[in-house]
Amino acid sequence: MSLEERTNRAIRRENRNRIFRYICKNGRLSNPAIASALKMSLPTVLQNTKDLKACGVLYDAGELDSTGGRKARTVDVCADYRYSVGINISRTHIVMVLTNLVGENVDRERIDHPFRDEDAYYRKIKKLLQEFCNRNSVKKSRLLGVGFSIPGIVNQNTNRIDRSHVLGLKDFPLEKFSEGISCKSWFMNEANAGAFAEGFHAGPEDHFFYLSLDDTVGGAVYDRGQVLNGDHFRSGEIGHVIIVPNGKRCYCGQRGCSDSYCSSLFLAPIEGDQPTLGSFFDRLNEGGSKEADRWEEYVHNLAILIHNIHMMLDCDIIIGGYVGSAMGDRIEDIRKAVEELDLFEQEASYIRSCVFKISESAFGAALFEMEQFLRQV
Ligand SMILES: [Zn+2]
Repeated sequence: MSLEERTNRAIRRENRNRIFRYICKNGRLSNPAIASALKMSLPTVLQNTKDLKACGVLYDAGELDSTGGRKARTVDVCADYRYSVGINISRTHIVMVLTNLVGENVDRERIDHPFRDEDAYYRKIKKLLQEFCNRNSVKKSRLLGVGFSIPGIVNQNTNRIDRSHVLGLKDFPLEKFSEGISCKSWFMNEANAGAFAEGFHAGPEDHFFYLSLDDTVGGAVYDRGQVLNGDHFRSGEIGHVIIVPNGKRCYCGQRGCSDSYCSSLFLAPIEGDQPTLGSFFDRLNEGGSKEADRWEEYVHNLAILIHNIHMMLDCDIIIGGYVGSAMGDRIEDIRKAVEELDLFEQEASYIRSCVFKISESAFGAALFEMEQFLRQV
């Protein structure tokens, strides 16, 4: 094949994928509307939507209402063409989510079941997954597989967890989680998965830092569809950056880590296995003085952390995890505190709340493989 033929083929592929992704994002559309939005010729769009219908990923979605003249025909995505499951493993529970071709939340289940490195635990995962797929009538041929989100350093080269303080694991084989599962499986660090969930609905050029403020602090650098791993899969381990020299002792052994000051536990304890942050913010918003003092100290330390990340990366910072999901309008306090530290007197509107308010890591783990699939349509 000549260079020219290869180039033409690549352009045709790229056009087809752009059309498909545009419909995934915007839903039911007419061919002229797609042509106009993507600045493509109508015959190019017509040929591609025809091909995509023949593959089964698009379907005829009827005619648009017309005020006169010929009614435009529309196409839409067959959202159930493929499914993907995400499983978040935590110390106290398991979360399963099911997503489809357009990244919707098809189903979600939270099961209280503490992690134990025992065969019975891994058998339980397999059983829960089977029941979850059966309940949603997911055919095996339509399931891309299962993505696991793990609170720890996931080494993609060795397929092992290098370390997980939360689960109490070191140099641990990941295959234990997927043993006996007949479909494809993959593994991601929890914060990386959260970042991936936020990035799935972002634009192709988007980049940001995802700051996960759960009962531990984590982070991930997201850049144009990829999460930066680093040389040892530790990129974004922001929880162990020291923000208070000689400060509180962290579970990692150091003193003054951001984890000790910016995790959700600084604001509210976990009761049973549920964070009580919602009621913390309720009391804070009702004028509770104890909560106000605690929040002020929290915001002061968090602002230092966010300022440092922003100085380093100069990009949007998305706050996720329990705090990002529960804080609501209190994000303004954080923005204000960061603005006071900013050398360039910039407005801190680059600090944003997460879009996924629940189970973002499980969704991210599911969406990772869905994204790989979408790229090759
Ligand atoms: Zn630490």
